[in-house]
Amino acid sequence: MVVRPRSAVIAAPDAFPPAGVTAIVFDVVGTLVEPAVTVADTYAAAGKRQGVDLDPATVARRFATAWRRQESIDAVAAIPFATSRDRERERWREIVTDVFGPGGATAAIFADLWAHFALPASWRTVRRGATLAQAAIDAGLVVAVASNFDERLLAIAPHLDPLARAAAVFPSSEIGWRKPAAEFFRHVERRLERRPDQLLYVGDDPDLDVTAAANAGWRSLLVG
Ligand SMILES: [Mg+2]
Repeated sequence: MVVRPRSAVIAAPDAFPPAGVTAIVFDVVGTLVEPAVTVADTYAAAGKRQGVDLDPATVARRFATAWRRQESIDAVAAIPFATSRDRERERWREIVTDVFGPGGATAAIFADLWAHFALPASWRTVRRGATLAQAAIDAGLVVAVASNFDERLLAIAPHLDPLARAAAVFPSSEIGWRKPAAEFFRHVERRLERRPDQLLYVGDDPDLDVTAAANAGWRSLLVG
């Protein structure tokens, strides 16, 4: 099966998988799966359950700012982009606090949202990513996922297509590094026992996926 990617940063952009690649590693959110209900609507509903009324447009605006703030914290940390289960949980606690404010309901809203996004049913397949993953499997390549998502991904993946088709799942909290750190990619190389030039990273983020993987010596492909 030959799939023609919409855009490509690979040596032979008209062929997938590209020659010489023996393993393909996919980003998760926005590439293989996406929230079944938008983040803004999900947050607004969680707020409402705790008696906090916030319209989805306000949530979306505050969420985007909060997300960027957390990325900045990681970028300027003493060890940039190092992470852990505690750091990932704290990231989301702070994002929820930035969105809803430090009021008494925020702890309950955070617990609600943390549990919500840990459920396979809260996610749905991105058809294009699933097609690429299956094309790679059909071509006899190893398919894995490596994500800035945290350890909740380990429980979700076996129950959610196409994540369940992956031979290995690498969440950032378990690697100890987030993209765009080169160490993130080095860890996956070691675990898959591949050289950088044998690996293709597929993702929807031009910086965190495509540029970061290319900087680590991998081939990379932008989708979405
Ligand atoms: Mg993504």
